[in-house]
Amino acid sequence: MENKEYDVIVIGAGNAGLVSALTLQKKGKKVLLLEKGRVVGGLASSFIRGRFEFDTSLHQLCEFGTKEDSDAVYDLFSRLEIIDKVSVETLPEAFAVYTLDHKEKYVMPVGKDAFLLKMEEYVPGSTKSMEEFFSLCEETKDALSYLNESKGHPETEVLMEKYPRFMVVAPYSIEKVLKKIDMPLKAQEILCSYWSYLGSPASKLSFIHYASMVYSYITKGPVIFKKSSHAISLLLSEEFVKNGGTLKCLTGVKEILTQNNEVIGVVTDSNEKFLTRHILANLSPNVVYGQLIQNDFVPDKAKSLTNLRNFGARGVSVYLGLNKTMKELGLENSTYFVYHSLDSDREFKRMHDVFSGNLAATLKNTSPDTSSLVLTSLIFGDAFDKLVTKENYFEIKEKLAESLVSSFEKATGMNIHDAIEEIEVATPVTFARYTGHPEGVIYGYLATSHDNLLPRIMNEENEVFIKGLRFCGGFGSRLSGYSSTYINGEMEALKTLGEMENERV
Ligand SMILES: Cc1cc2nc3c(=O)[nH]c(=O)nc-3n(C[C@H](O)[C@H](O)[C@H](O)COP(=O)(O)OP(=O)(O)OC[C@H]3O[C@@H](n4cnc5c(N)ncnc54)[C@H](O)[C@@H]3O)c2cc1C
Repeated sequence: MENKEYDVIVIGAGNAGLVSALTLQKKGKKVLLLEKGRVVGGLASSFIRGRFEFDTSLHQLCEFGTKEDSDAVYDLFSRLEIIDKVSVETLPEAFAVYTLDHKEKYVMPVGKDAFLLKMEEYVPGSTKSMEEFFSLCEETKDALSYLNESKGHPETEVLMEKYPRFMVVAPYSIEKVLKKIDMPLKAQEILCSYWSYLGSPASKLSFIHYASMVYSYITKGPVIFKKSSHAISLLLSEEFVKNGGTLKCLTGVKEILTQNNEVIGVVTDSNEKFLTRHILANLSPNVVYGQLIQNDFVPDKAKSLTNLRNFGARGVSVYLGLNKTMKELGLENSTYFVYHSLDSDREFKRMHDVFSGNLAATLKNTSPDTSSLVLTSLIFGDAFDKLVTKENYFEIKEKLAESLVSSFEKATGMNIHDAIEEIEVATPVTFARYTGHPEGVIYGYLATSHDNLLPRIMNEENEVFIKGLRFCGGFGSRLSGYSSTYINGEMEALKTLGEMENERV
């Protein structure tokens, strides 16, 4: 008979859940990983239409690097002993950004020196402030490593002494810091093109959050997985099972059981009960506190914090299988941002309209005569709900696809329509159905000035409201994104391990 007691139960097999489960299993713990979906991966998945396999979400992965010059995700995959099976392709440029209103086009290369030179070409006189920016990025990266190592208990004296400039810039937005170092406005705007990857405008995004991501993309190069992100999800789950972990797909958790404000187990959709003292939830706190734990047992602080936070971006993605290569289409870049203007505040506001036309695109050759193009547009607020009804849903889907393809064509001047062989559209409804995240949110909670990366990391331990219950993933302290969720998965697993060791003492 199955022993239904586990050291740790991980709920949800997204990036973070998979890494958490594997990390704990490798440390000799008995781990149960429960996933409501048919397959593992959550948003890190893929699907096939005709002769095309589409990655559901990955446009660019940061913090990877190379064997010789590795970054955090590379090192994590080495610790998890899967690195030899992971092959990536480094993208040739950081990004190409186009504006619809003023027909601007900037293509930014990978590599610090090349990036500086190109920026100087586009914005003469920008080099000094760009050098200052990179130097601040370097200090920020070191300071964040120290904060991670200090496991939420950093020493202020060490921070002040070793990372004085980090301490000065840490509370400010990327916009404020770039202004302060006298970066010309156009250079600020080009540099901040990546803002939509974090789903907050430059005036709201913390310097350290944005700087760490951009620094990695520029200096190490953005990568994509050669097969698909789903292949990596499968690799993580196979390694977990190989190490003795128990994975149950098509097994959603409908209740988390607690006693005296401590976790004691879970109940699945099919009424199976599993016991544990430690749960890692790869879900939103809204679902956990609002649906999975009986209301009377949810601490008031958990309810208020969850209510205080705002949801981040929702998304629409249009997946296109094209019967032409990139060359035949006349397009040579792999990553595109299309905005009406480079003013991120204005564009953020505009993206409260479902048909903003702003988008991030990934283009790649998929065979000697085909390519795939994925267009993702973010939507903020409730515009989607106000527009969509049961009756008009498919019509709206078609309009969204049409609007994004046209926007991409208008920006680049290239014809995409005539090359479309396959098309699939995902809306917030699709993402909600696959992940269970409220409102189909794809970027966790909104990163804003008062609720940004640093306060979240620093406050994490104060947010353990029920003993034995921790969160990992896009709604966690490192926010969303592939590298963030992989890394956060390991961090939370190690913290759970620490709690288990303390219990033994
Ligand atoms: C269109 C799109 C483009 C993106 N582009 C990029 C990009 O280019 N670069 C980048 O870094 N990031 C990108 N992201 C973000 C990135 O995909 C996510 O941040 C990351 O994959 C989220 O991982 P996670 O660990 O939070 O888990 P999730 O993927 O959110 O998975 C959660 C899992 O929990 C499961 N679950 C939910 N409820 C239950 C339950 N009750 N019981 C059991 N299981 C449950 C779900 O089925 C799911 O498998 C993109 C996202 C989208 C949607």
